Amino acid sequence: MAPPLSKGAVADLEWEELEATVATCRLCGLCDGRKQTVFGCGARDADWMIVGEAPGAEEDRLGEPFVGAAGKLLDAMLRAVGLAREQVFIANTLKCRPPGNRDPHVDELAACRPYLERQIALVRPRLLLVVGRIAAQALLASDEPIGRLRGRVHELPGLGVPLVPTYHPAYLLRSPDQKRRAWQDLLLARSLTVGDGDGGPR
Ligand code: SF4
Repeated sequence: MAPPLSKGAVADLEWEELEATVATCRLCGLCDGRKQTVFGCGARDADWMIVGEAPGAEEDRLGEPFVGAAGKLLDAMLRAVGLAREQVFIANTLKCRPPGNRDPHVDELAACRPYLERQIALVRPRLLLVVGRIAAQALLASDEPIGRLRGRVHELPGLGVPLVPTYHPAYLLRSPDQKRRAWQDLLLARSLTVGDGDGGPR
């Protein structure tokens, strides 16, 4: 397996080059089981960037993040704060599907991280809404449970972007009693991007 990518190796890539690099990436073992990479989608100048864990089976098949039931719930969560899916940029910490939807390994997250960091640098969002324990722990280099990371604003180390962790929509489908807390997180996130005279997120 190739050594992990250095941050500098993608730091100058623009969108098309970055997308092409990801599409042919073989930096970790997940390349062997994927149907295709799932780069991310949405507005490349979005105020809000959503970061999840990794593609599942449907995402791997369709090449788009957050499709299926969890994706529909994410769309509904965004609509509740006045945002259409097309207005945000959606990406994952991993661009390839882990087999059987197992948790990502530390070395896989490390190998893929420069791509996500370059996406964040290109989008320059005003806010990162990070859904689920895996993505929140990876981005914040923390081992705290999501229940303790959520409910407050963090800052993404190195990039200085406000980051609000919340529950993953797939978890909310299994634990609907937690939707109230997710709503609180969304309101917190919205409070960070209201302003500039526009009354709310673009
Ligand atoms: S998960 Fe990321 S690092 Fe691993 S092969 Fe896919 S694109 Fe490359």
